[in-house]
Amino acid sequence: MDSSIVLRVKDLVKEYGGTKAVAGVSFEVRAGEIVGLLGPNGAGKTTTINMILGVLEQTSGTIEIPDKAQMNFAAVYSNVPGNLTVRQNLKVFGLLYGVRNLKARIETLLTEFSLEQFANTRAGVLSSGEQTRVALAKAIINEPKLLLLDEPTASLDPSAAHIIRDKVKEIAKQKQAAILWTSHNMHEVEAVCDRVLLFSHGKILLEGDPRTLPAQY
Ligand code: ATP
Repeated sequence: MDSSIVLRVKDLVKEYGGTKAVAGVSFEVRAGEIVGLLGPNGAGKTTTINMILGVLEQTSGTIEIPDKAQMNFAAVYSNVPGNLTVRQNLKVFGLLYGVRNLKARIETLLTEFSLEQFANTRAGVLSSGEQTRVALAKAIINEPKLLLLDEPTASLDPSAAHIIRDKVKEIAKQKQAAILWTSHNMHEVEAVCDRVLLFSHGKILLEGDPRTLPAQY
């Protein structure tokens, strides 16, 4: 596989009974690239992400990814455990990923995501925007080569969403992480993504530069 390709999905299918939630999807994501999965409810975006993560088994097709230890994930529906403090959460996930110099890494992340004042607060009492910052800090604790973000800004106000979008762009640029970002919002995809895959009924209907694609079609 071309060394800049971090994720390669080929002819991916997920069938439930006779229905195809994902009906033959192929795409690649390169290091440093942010690729948006855009599409209406039920289009197959989350099912695709879940197969890449390995929590769902595909009916057919192949997924080539780096070592699972070099992958990470954040989603609006998957908050970090609310009964642990922010620092405890980062510690638990850091240990799970075998992060070296974990203490220093946690302090860096607390600063980077402006979470210092919440370090000893239980994550469950934080606002949606604060919890999303914690989830994103957790998601990059192992400096992933592939980062899967399922609607990371869905519950955020415009200003908090803006902070998260900037942060993710910075992660792609500075760390050369490959990022897959699902969204319902074309404006957001335009602002964040280098490329967009437009999902409809389990298939990729269109693919291209989010800044020029709407005018083309
Ligand atoms: P949303 O934007 O609403 O999150 P999505 O694009 O992520 O939608 P998926 O959650 O991937 O869509 O769902 C794709 C289709 O697969 C939907 O029609 C859904 O009802 C169906 N589906 C998902 N999981 C199952 C399941 N366990 N059993 C049967 N059908 C399922």
